[in-house]
Amino acid sequence: QHEQLQALAEVPAQTKDGAAFQLAANISTVKDLELALRNGASGVGLFRTEFLYMDRDSLPQEEEQFTVYRQAAEQMGGKPVVIRTLDIGGDKSLDYFELPEEENPSLGYRAIRISLDHTDLFKTQLRAILRASHYGRIKILYPMISSIEELDKANTILESVKQELRGESIPFAHNIEVGIMIEVPAAVIIAELLAPKVDFFSIGTNDLVQYILAVDRMNETVAHLYDPFHPAVLRMLKRTVEAAKTANLQVSVCGEMAGDIRALPIWLALGITDLSMSVQSILRVKNSLLQSSLKECSAIWRELDQCSSGKAVVEVLNKYLHPDV
Ligand code: PEP
Ligand code: MG
Repeated sequence: QHEQLQALAEVPAQTKDGAAFQLAANISTVKDLELALRNGASGVGLFRTEFLYMDRDSLPQEEEQFTVYRQAAEQMGGKPVVIRTLDIGGDKSLDYFELPEEENPSLGYRAIRISLDHTDLFKTQLRAILRASHYGRIKILYPMISSIEELDKANTILESVKQELRGESIPFAHNIEVGIMIEVPAAVIIAELLAPKVDFFSIGTNDLVQYILAVDRMNETVAHLYDPFHPAVLRMLKRTVEAAKTANLQVSVCGEMAGDIRALPIWLALGITDLSMSVQSILRVKNSLLQSSLKECSAIWRELDQCSSGKAVVEVLNKYLHPDV
């Protein structure tokens, strides 16, 4: 089975009727790149940079980060590499960086909220990413954006860092693409306001599901309520895609849901062709994709839209499920 799947690494990712997909990899360290490439990843759709900051006793400096991001860009050889700025807080902490004790960490001090408060830390990371952008096709992704003000602040800081680099004659990709994670319901609701200010959206279903359903993704007591197929989630996905289409933006999905073969008909129905997933899921998803057709899924939305529970949604999706190798 493993060998049959492995043989798909070189096969183009498309449906039977020719709808082409990008199946990219989520990575935490550059060590994951080798397997990503071996599994035929179209790029890195999500580089979770927080792992570069974890399990050590001080902040990684610019040069160290630059070296890592440059390696990712170079090793992917011109394929896109989406680097997400630091996403600590919530479930991820740093030993050397004191964060407040919080009653509700996932509703607390995390991700872009920390970066916008600690601009030195943020600028160091942005400098490293920009410098590395000269060596491949890097994109920047901000986590946990929930308002226009946050996005504007982040972009203003990015502009100032670009200005600094220009002043120092350091090369970087001047037209580097900048996107935001869509993982807070507020971002979905104001997606059409956010869209003109970015180059792409990346839907983070892990957090989006937790926040839509008010179910802590780390809390085992309520784990049975954590349901990516809940009708509310499907409606949020649709709304995000519509806002992106109106603004002519690329939209990808990078949460765990992207690697779940049951969700494939949803992407086909919504017109999402850009997925990023754990390195281990790429070939399985491709195998299902190769057996799917756009035509067969175009009518499915009406069926899904009528479902009043996640269970009913999964029942519909199961009818379209294609077997593993
Ligand atoms: C997500 O929230 O869906 C996501 C991809 O980010 P993370 O899992 O790192 O929070
Ligand atoms: Mg997230």
